[in-house]
Amino acid sequence: MKQLQFEYVNMDGLKRDLSRIAKFCRANMISSCVFRIFAETAKDDRITIITDMIRATIPQAVYIGCTTNGNIYNGDLATGDIIVSCTAFEYASTEVEVLQYDMPKEKQTAVVKDLKEKLKSRPWVKAVEILVAINSVSFTDFCVEIETVDPEICVYGGGAFGNDDAHQEGAVFSSEGDYTTHGVVFLLIGGDDFHCKTMHITGWKPLGRVLKITKAEGSILSEINYEPTYNTFNRYLNIPNDENFFTNTLEFPLFFQHRGMDILRAPIACLEDGSLIMSSDVEENVNARLAYGDPWTILNSVRESGLEIQKFQPQYFVLFSCAARRSFWGDADLDKESLPFQSIAPTTGFFTTGEFLRTDDIMNLHNVTLVVCAMREGELEDHYTESFEMTEDIFDGKMSMISRLATFIDVSTEELYDAYHQMEQLAILDGMTKLYNRMEIQRRMNEAMDQIKSKGANGRTPANISLIMMDIDDFKKVNDTYGHTEGDTVLISLAKDIKEIIKDLAPNASAGRWGGEEFMILLPECDEHRAKEIAEELRQQFTKNTYSTAPSQTISLGVTEAVLGEDCDIVRIRVDDALYDAKHAGKNQVVVR
Ligand code: GH3
Ligand code: MG
Ligand code: MG
Repeated sequence: MKQLQFEYVNMDGLKRDLSRIAKFCRANMISSCVFRIFAETAKDDRITIITDMIRATIPQAVYIGCTTNGNIYNGDLATGDIIVSCTAFEYASTEVEVLQYDMPKEKQTAVVKDLKEKLKSRPWVKAVEILVAINSVSFTDFCVEIETVDPEICVYGGGAFGNDDAHQEGAVFSSEGDYTTHGVVFLLIGGDDFHCKTMHITGWKPLGRVLKITKAEGSILSEINYEPTYNTFNRYLNIPNDENFFTNTLEFPLFFQHRGMDILRAPIACLEDGSLIMSSDVEENVNARLAYGDPWTILNSVRESGLEIQKFQPQYFVLFSCAARRSFWGDADLDKESLPFQSIAPTTGFFTTGEFLRTDDIMNLHNVTLVVCAMREGELEDHYTESFEMTEDIFDGKMSMISRLATFIDVSTEELYDAYHQMEQLAILDGMTKLYNRMEIQRRMNEAMDQIKSKGANGRTPANISLIMMDIDDFKKVNDTYGHTEGDTVLISLAKDIKEIIKDLAPNASAGRWGGEEFMILLPECDEHRAKEIAEELRQQFTKNTYSTAPSQTISLGVTEAVLGEDCDIVRIRVDDALYDAKHAGKNQVVVR
């Protein structure tokens, strides 16, 4: 595989470069070759000039192309606005084919179904490269359908970027179809001697508070924390809902976990009701955070990825990098994450509106990600010289500031969460025993009983929720005889027994200090027999405790199981009565009511 590439400067240059390529192909008996044309410009005569001349000069070649937000040429930002990159395949077994479809949103599934049908009769295919005009349309159907392409095939690509000021619409074109703003181009590559490997790099870090996605369907994200999603972007990032909404939010995607994977989803459009169309599906009831790039994290993953991928001995890299990454780095520092690949093999690519990559059978339309596809013809060589090179970077100026601010927000948020968590604990725990306080245990009882209140009101069906209430016997005497401090020790020892026993016997139970030397245990999914056993275990355990001066002590316990349709207060009064009965029957015992 040989990579022959150039930047378009003028007609003469184009002629010269294409003749050079044609000569190379003839001399080396090139089986097939593919041109990638990336244009940081909307419909432009130069695209037609280039494609016409490719057809005329190298008739056997195929080409694919799209509009972009800038191009990567030899691992760096291209200086001109159009790059032409030709991959010449040297093995006779390598095959390439281009498909182009018209693809309005409603046809996404049908188009991919047709692609899959075609793949069935082309068993040689090992890579499906996608160029597509995304243009504010949800690509969920497309992703879902393409997920089931033969898992052996690498599926990756990018969304064309719209630079046309008036419409901001990206466009694709190929040797199989015209320039279009609602189409998709597939480049199929394969054959026995062709190999490819894909990976993706993110480096974006979740920052700030956790946001709960409270209303979402498909790729429409309607509410975050019960408010229109737009409010979040406006409140935290001060982004107005105007024609620049997409460009402004792109650098701040939402970060969450989706099927075990870190996912970034950027809004692609804002609707009138404040809902956002996201780049792909978003799940309801998921915790998300806004994210931002961290230079160190990014470069660490580039280093790890580079070291890993060079073992594959790539001969060519094609990169699909989000437009957000270009604005994040700024043109001066952009090469930091792409140039290291050039130290291994020729690297071209472009800045996208979205990056496609299938990993572990999941097809994702990513945002702010760098998708890397490495290609090789022929087997691995034994004597390959590893050439990956990446200088240790010292950031200054903007990047150093961003890195520090990202750390600042990250650490501050974590500290606030810790403080909030501590306060939350203080508000619900009893200071001395560290069991729940009365307010919290009562709240939990109400919550549990509310669920059974509406179910069956015949007053007979056990609800499988029980309460245990207990009180230390003759506790006043302990205080009077051995002092208040010794009394406290006895109280704390009972609390410890409660914690240990529920941890072992009823892990989903909640225990609280009801008042003075009285305690309450709420046992969900527990009938009265089981509750009685637990109460008995507790009674016996407590008598075994020893104290420095006081002798061993006893407790009395009441047990009851709630009945469907019952009110929380009724159940509480009944367990109180059971405890009263235990006291009256001579203390140090369990009574069930
Ligand atoms: P009974 O067996 O009927 O429950 O008798 P009792 O003596 O345990 O009951 P009573 O209600 O008369 O006394 C409870 C005592 O618990 C009174 C109070 O001083 C003591 N007490 C309540 N809270 C604490 C505490 O936090 N520490 C200590 N040391 N004592 C407490
Ligand atoms: Mg008592
Ligand atoms: Mg008492």
